[in-house]
Amino acid sequence: MNKQVRVRFAPSPTGPLHIGGVRTALYNYLFAKQKQGSFILRIEDTDQSRWVPGTEEYIREALSWCGIKPDEGVVEGGPHAPYRQSERKEIYAQYAQQLVDAGHAYYAFDTEEALEAMRERLKAGGVAVPQYNAITRMQMQNSLTLTPEEVKTKIEKGEPYVIRLKVPRKEEIRLQDMVRGWVMVHSSTIDDKVVMKSDGMPTYHLANVVDDHLMEITHVIRGEEWLPSAPLHVLLYRFFGWEDSMPAFAHLPLLLKPDGNGKLSKRDAKKHGFPVFPLAWLGPDGEDLMGFREEGYLPEAFINFLALLGWNPGTEQELFSMDELITAFSIERINKAGARFDIQKAHWFNQQYMKNRTDEVLADDLLEFLKKEGIQSTREQAVSVCRLMKERVTFSRELWTNARYFYEPPKQYDEKIVNKKWTEEAATALGAYSTALKRYGDKISAEEAKAVLNNVLDQEGIKVGKVMQALRLAVTGEGGGPDLMDIIEVLGIPETTRRIDEALRVLKDHIKLTQ
Ligand code: GLU
Repeated sequence: MNKQVRVRFAPSPTGPLHIGGVRTALYNYLFAKQKQGSFILRIEDTDQSRWVPGTEEYIREALSWCGIKPDEGVVEGGPHAPYRQSERKEIYAQYAQQLVDAGHAYYAFDTEEALEAMRERLKAGGVAVPQYNAITRMQMQNSLTLTPEEVKTKIEKGEPYVIRLKVPRKEEIRLQDMVRGWVMVHSSTIDDKVVMKSDGMPTYHLANVVDDHLMEITHVIRGEEWLPSAPLHVLLYRFFGWEDSMPAFAHLPLLLKPDGNGKLSKRDAKKHGFPVFPLAWLGPDGEDLMGFREEGYLPEAFINFLALLGWNPGTEQELFSMDELITAFSIERINKAGARFDIQKAHWFNQQYMKNRTDEVLADDLLEFLKKEGIQSTREQAVSVCRLMKERVTFSRELWTNARYFYEPPKQYDEKIVNKKWTEEAATALGAYSTALKRYGDKISAEEAKAVLNNVLDQEGIKVGKVMQALRLAVTGEGGGPDLMDIIEVLGIPETTRRIDEALRVLKDHIKLTQ
C-alpha cells in the first residue's frame, strides 16, 4: 500500500539556520510537494541548555523567505500538534517508561564522578573509547545491578537518574539509506545512550524517533552528520515494535568549503566575505552574521543555487523555478560526495534571475535604494535605468551603485580616459554637440541623439571613434556602461548638455597638457 508521503524538517533552535539546514528543508519540501505529501516543521528544543532565543523565529522567517511553506508546524498547527518538542514532555516520558517496562531500557543513578571513574578505569586498562555499554553497565549503579527495592527507594528519595537504552551486546544493525545504500553497524560500537535526562527531558534520539512515529513520517531526509545516529534509531524502532512502519532514510552529503577541504563553516564566511546563512543574524551574544537576503540575493536564485548543491537533474538545465524543482527532484539523483560551495555560482544565479525580472519590479528595489540615499527620481526614470542596467548587475543595489551617473553629474573623471581620450578634437566635437543638442529641445530619443552627433561630426570632419569615449566621460565620468545614446535619452538634453559644458570647463587645462 502506498502511504501518503509525510516528511519533516526538524531543526533545533540552538543557532541561526545554516544554509546546509535550508538545503535539508528544501529537499524535504521538494520531495513532499512532488508526491502530493505533507511537509512538517518540528522544533526540536529538548536541549534547553543550548537554546538560543530568537532562533526559532529566525528559522521560520528563513523558510518563509525561501518560499518553503510548512503544511503542519508550530504556527500552522495540524493533527499532531504540538510541534514543539518541549511541549510534548509527557509523551516521551510515557514511551521511555514503555522501554523500561519491556526491558529495553533501565534507570541509571551514576553520578558524574562515578562515570568519570569508570572511564578512567577503562582507559587505564587499555580501552581506547570507554563506554557505558553491555559490559560496563553491570559495574554501575542502575536498575540492572540494584534490587527493585533499592531502585524504588532511590526514586522515592528523589535521587537524580537518567534512563539508558539497553543496547544489545552483539547484534548487527542494518539500514538501507536511499543515498548511501546499505549501512551496517555492530551494536557493540554503540553505547547505552541516555534517552531520558535527569531533568525529565528526553534526548534527541528518543524524542526524534517517537515523534517521527507518532507524526507518521514516511521519509527522514536529513544531513549526513546524523548518519551515525541512524542505527540507534533503527534499534529504537525495533524496541518499540514499530519496525514495519519505520521511515525510509536519506542522508544528504555535506556542504564543503570552496577548496573542498572540510565542512563549510561560519569561519569560511568571515574569511572569504560571503554569507553562509540565509538571513543576517545578530545574536544575543553579539554574534553578527551576514545573510544571503541582506547581501541582495533573490530568494529564487538562492533556492536554485542551493538545490544544485548536492543534487543534479541529470540534464544540462541549470535554471529551475520552485515548481520546476518540484517536478524534477529525485532522491536517486542526490550525490553521495560532498558539495563544494562556490559563491561565484551563486552570483551567476542571481544575475540570471535579475535579468529575468521585469523593469517594473526592479524599479521598486531601485526606488527603495534611492529613497534611502535621499535622491529624487520618477518611476519612469527608474524603470528606464533598470532596463539599461539589469544585464550588467549581479545585485539590485548595483542598479544604484554602478549607475549613479543617472542621478548625479560626475564628481570626478576617470583619469586614464582623460589622459587617453580628452583631445582637442574631442573637445571641439563635444562643444559643437552640446550646441546642437540645445537647439533641439528638452527630450531626445537615443536614435535622434545619435543622428545629431553624426551630423555634428560630419560637419567638423571628425571620426566618431575619436569622440565617443570622451563624450561618455563627460556625461558619466566613467569609461564603461550601457549604450551612451540610451543614457542621454534617460538624462534628457538640459542635463546632458550641462554635463558636457561642465566637463569642457573642468578639463580645459587638460587638453593643453595632452597636446
Ligand atoms: N534536531 C536535529 C537537528 O537539529 C534533527 C535531525 C534529524 O532530522 O533527525 O538537525
